[in-house]
This record gives sequence, C-alpha cells and structure tokens, in this order.
Amino acid sequence: MKLDPKRESWMTAPKTRAVLDALGPEARFVGGAVRNALLKREVSDVDIATPLTPDEVTERLTAAGLGAVPTGFEHGTVTAISTGTPFEVTTLRRDVSTDGRRAVVAFTKDWKEDAQRRDFTMNALYATADGEVVDLVGGLADLQAGRVRFVGDATARIREDYLRILRLFRFHAWYGKGDLDSEALRAAATEKAGLAQLSGERVQKELLRLLAADDPAPMLRTMAAAGILGELLPGALSIARLEHLAAIDAGAFFTPDPVLRLAALLPHDVSVAQSVAKKLKFSNAHAARLEDIAGSKEKIVSYLSVKEVRKLLYRIGIAPFRDRVFIKWAEDPRESNAVNWRMLLEVASTWPRPIFPLTGRDVMLAGVPEGPLVGRILSEVEDWWIDADFIEDEFSLAERLKAVVQATAY
Ligand code: ATP
Ligand code: MG
Repeated sequence: MKLDPKRESWMTAPKTRAVLDALGPEARFVGGAVRNALLKREVSDVDIATPLTPDEVTERLTAAGLGAVPTGFEHGTVTAISTGTPFEVTTLRRDVSTDGRRAVVAFTKDWKEDAQRRDFTMNALYATADGEVVDLVGGLADLQAGRVRFVGDATARIREDYLRILRLFRFHAWYGKGDLDSEALRAAATEKAGLAQLSGERVQKELLRLLAADDPAPMLRTMAAAGILGELLPGALSIARLEHLAAIDAGAFFTPDPVLRLAALLPHDVSVAQSVAKKLKFSNAHAARLEDIAGSKEKIVSYLSVKEVRKLLYRIGIAPFRDRVFIKWAEDPRESNAVNWRMLLEVASTWPRPIFPLTGRDVMLAGVPEGPLVGRILSEVEDWWIDADFIEDEFSLAERLKAVVQATAY
C-alpha cells in the first residue's frame, strides 16, 4: 500500500519536508495523519516517529534552524516548529512499566516494539517520506473494515492506560463501521472503575473529541449501557437531545461544537454543570458557558418575532442566544420548524446591536442631581427604549426621559 505524495500536500509541504530532511531518511509519519490520509479524510496534525533519541532530535532540528520544544521529553516527544507549525516527533519506544495513567518508557530502534505500544491497530500505521505504508500489526485491514481493535490484549492494554477506554469509543465514533469490537467493549466495561484515576484534563480532551464526531450518540448509548458514561458524567443525561443536535448539525452543515453538545447532554441544572466543569478541569470560559446554558430561563421558541429576538439579543448577547436556540431546537421534535430556528440564528448573526443613545449626563441635564437615582432613571428609559424596538427618534426619547424624571425625581 502506498500513499501518493503528489496527492498528499501535507507530506510534501515545504514545512514538512524541512522536518523530515533534518531527521534523516529513517523518520516516518505515524498515527492520525497516516490513518486519515488512507481514508481520504482531512489530515490536521502530523506526527512523526524516529529511531533517533530526543537529544539527537533536538540537535538536528536546531542545526536545521527549526524550533525544538521538549513537550514530553522523558516520553520521547520533542515538538518541532517549522514555519510556525508544530510537528510532534517521538522516539521509538516501548513501555517498561505503567500505572494506568503514565508509562515509564525505554527508547528502542525496533519499529515493531513501537507499533505494539500504540493503542489501536489503525493508529499504528507508518508511512515513509515517499509514501510507503508500513503495517506491522494488521492495521490496514482493520482500518478498511472499520474495526477499532486494540494492539494485543484489550484488558491488558486498558490496564496500562485507562484513557484507552474513552479512546476506544472516540475512534469508533469517527472511524468505526458496525458494532464495536465485542472483546474491547467487554474489557472496557469490566475495567471502567479505572477511569477515576485519570486526570480531568485528559478525560475532558477525549470526551470533547468523542462529542465532536458526526454522530456520537450511538457510542454514548453503548457507554451508558455499559455503565461507563455514569463514571464520567453525573445526573440524568439526554442522549436523545444530543442526538437531535448532531442531526441538526449534519442537516445544516454546521461544524460540531463539542462544548455545546456536552451542554445538550447534561441536565438543565447549574449545579451539575458546575461539578462537571470542575471535575473535568474546563477553562473558565467553557465552565461559564456550560453553567449559563444549564441555568437559562428565557422563553425561546421557534416562533419568536424578530422584535422579541432583538430584545433577547440585546439583553443576553449573541453567543448565549445562539446557544439557547440550538438547545431548544434540539428539543423540538417538529422537523418543519427548522426554517424558523434557522431564521432566529440568521437574525442573531446579522443584527447590529444598537447603542443606547442616552448617558448619565443627559439625565443630569434633565435636572437630576448626581447620585444613584441617575442610574435608575437611565435604566428605566432604556427598558422603554428596548420595548419600543430601539426607537431611533431622539425626540420621543427626550420626551420619555422628561416624563420619567418628572414622575420619579423630587
Ligand atoms: P487525532 O490527532 O486525529 O486525534 P491521532 O491518532 O493522531 O488522532 P493522537 O492523540 O494525536 O491521536 O496520538 C497520536 C498517536 O499516538 C496515536 O495514533 C497512537 O498511535 C498514539 N497514542 C496516543 N495516545 C495513546 C494512548 N493513550 N495509548 C497508546 N497510544 C497512544
Ligand atoms: Mg494526532
């Protein structure tokens, strides 16, 4: 099996060539890039394997004028930076001892040993610089058949690193065909308690990758039935709502938004969102978004008028409005409402948010002395202005201000 470098721009790009030239003829592409190229799917990041030690890799990259960042030095990984693009360069290795989370590794010159320490056969495919595919563990046949199969014994491989349980479901959601490998599923279910040992960051990353698959729902159902999902996420989960959201994305060619999908999966309960965000070490921005969606109270229906949409947009902002629309759309069983839901998103993305034309100065000029009353009157007039659909007529606004001042002040 050969990949044609002429058709694989990621292989021949000058920045890729620069890294390969620095590392010499023994370096090979590995992992996602090879797998995805063989499937004719998009190649996003390029990983490289080499028999050179991390010290040698660093020396050679530096001598070639490329960046060399020791991102996982003791595990053999040096990240090469070539024209701003990172390439993970990892020394061939085998795992000497493992504790379910981390491995102590030994470097080797043996490609087969390196293939055997990788998780799934389809992830253990290498390609030389001229595109020759090297398959040492039967990965090609599995890839073609859509079989996500552990290299070696499933239980043993899971015990080395429990994250592989989640990677099993993630890769099947992306590249699998038909049912999950039954031996792998049995092992994952039996070993699920080990998930508790993993760091929140690693679980978060895998879970989001799973949720970003075209349709993660079948795998989530399998995980729920095996008691695995409950180890990760508390509360009553809405797989059906998430499934509908995925169908909406597919139908409208929206790019999957894994954090939004997680929000669709979680119950409408701020405390659950908080505990998930904490346990999975979400960034402040993602945590705030999950909590905001879980606590949303606005009435959002497909038949909102344009005026109501503008009012909501002004009050809560575009991004939170869009999030709510997607969640409510995902709860709406009537497919014929899709046009209305899309219209709401359209209004949200095109409406220029007006700026309230009055300031505290205008209120004081109307005779109110400086103090807390100024702000109260201002927001009272703003409420009226919003209800009047952001009326632009300055005269009406001035009249309203005068009326509010007369009724409130003194
Ligand atoms: P993608 O980049 O599309 O997520 P990938 O296959 O490149 O997919 P990475 O997480 O980037 O996945 O890992 C690169 C390679 O390293 C994998 O293909 C696999 O061979 C190996 N690998 C990564 N994580 C593990 C793990 N937990 N256990 C065993 N091998 C792993
Ligand atoms: Mg990768």
